[in-house]
Amino acid sequence: MSKYHLITFGCQMNKSDSERIAAVLENIGYKPASKINEANLIVVNMCSVRQSAVDRVFGKCQKLVKLQTLNPKLKTILTGCLLKEDRKKFRDKFDLILDIKDLPQWPPILSKKHYNITTLQQYNNYLQLRPKYQSRFSTLIPISNGCDNFCSYCVVPYVRGRLVCRPAKEIIEEIKNLVKREVNPIRNMISNGAREIWLLGQNVNSYNSLICANAGTNLRKYSWKFAPKLAQIREVNFPKLLKMANDVPGDFWLRFTSPHPKDFSDELMETMAGCRKITPYLNLPVQSGDNKILRKMNRDYTAGEYKNLVKKIRKTFAKIRGKFPPISISTDVIVGFPGETKKQFEATLKLFKEIKFDMAYIAKYSPRPGTAAAKLKDSVSKQEKERRYKVLTEILKETALKNNKKYINKIVDVLPEYKKGEWLVGKTKTYKTIKIQMTKSKYQINAKIQNPKLIGKFIKVRVIKALSWGLGGELA
Ligand code: SF4
Repeated sequence: MSKYHLITFGCQMNKSDSERIAAVLENIGYKPASKINEANLIVVNMCSVRQSAVDRVFGKCQKLVKLQTLNPKLKTILTGCLLKEDRKKFRDKFDLILDIKDLPQWPPILSKKHYNITTLQQYNNYLQLRPKYQSRFSTLIPISNGCDNFCSYCVVPYVRGRLVCRPAKEIIEEIKNLVKREVNPIRNMISNGAREIWLLGQNVNSYNSLICANAGTNLRKYSWKFAPKLAQIREVNFPKLLKMANDVPGDFWLRFTSPHPKDFSDELMETMAGCRKITPYLNLPVQSGDNKILRKMNRDYTAGEYKNLVKKIRKTFAKIRGKFPPISISTDVIVGFPGETKKQFEATLKLFKEIKFDMAYIAKYSPRPGTAAAKLKDSVSKQEKERRYKVLTEILKETALKNNKKYINKIVDVLPEYKKGEWLVGKTKTYKTIKIQMTKSKYQINAKIQNPKLIGKFIKVRVIKALSWGLGGELA
């Protein structure tokens, strides 16, 4: 029997791509291998965003060579966010290197005895393929692919191409199918649909599509000659898409990632605060607290504008949703960008102290070939990048802890994701990790039976402990 093993690196978008790869492979008869050495096809879905991610793929290659020595019939494929330079480096390490956008064309290649890359053809958006969802209660839905922003350090526009948006109608249909309750009369069971929907895009607030106001038709299917009259055409931007998603019946949370601060409109913040299914959590990448560095990064906003934006978002949320819980804000930041002086780094520290983030994803700069920043001298030493990373992490630990302490004794909604020992681990609406103690609660007697049944269902939890990176609680 043909078995496959999938190795995924990178962000949620890559994870979502892997769900589509799994669906395509299973459609042509492959079954998932429970162990890597049982597979006769290994697909590595890689990420080129940071050098460390590329190094990890190199690390995996040695294992793949060993496996191919033991099993000469084993085939290997490399796909994902691939730079031209990486393609060259990995050419002799994999049997095939395939573009993720050509996923609909993989089956004819894989069913041939000898792979032949020339059979690739252009195909419509690969995001139209139905994925094999990895979780029944938390699902990833890409709304677009690629990016037009060209931040100077970023490879996304080169590896994923320019922005392409999925039609709104297709996205809303996918949400409707995922969240609906299913009744199985034979097994006398009702299964709840998805409880958490993540809308994904490299820059979600650039989202834009056109639909026909009457039928919700996707205009891209028609030439303009046959397009319905202009009066019937409606433009769907990101806030409108959120409203449409919020209107889908069902009990579920809506999350999205990631927006660009330069495109964050009043309409978006009011929609976020006003639509109750949208969770009070926002990842808003700042990247630096220094204006000169932001300019060199081609980010198109200043540190002051970013701070004002966060203030306004917090105020809008407090006004519409009340004071607790306050919207939780995380960020992405790069330390050691080419030419970043100690003083410029201190501006980032200052911004972190002022904003008091709930979480931050801190990256040590590494040049990526082909980007504008790669032409600049990587002037900050490895040790200094490490130092800046640690200093910033310390500030974050303090602010996150302070924010988390506000949750003590409060009752919050939680979506449990998995069980770890006698703990249930899940996320709050504000995207804080929470460990739920089962044994000391009033459910003590039934704890062992109840634990697995609570996974993927909304529960109420009383917070009893606050740490920098999460909360502790018990069933309320
Ligand atoms: S907006 Fe995001 S994905 Fe687009 S170029 Fe900038 S960092 Fe990359």
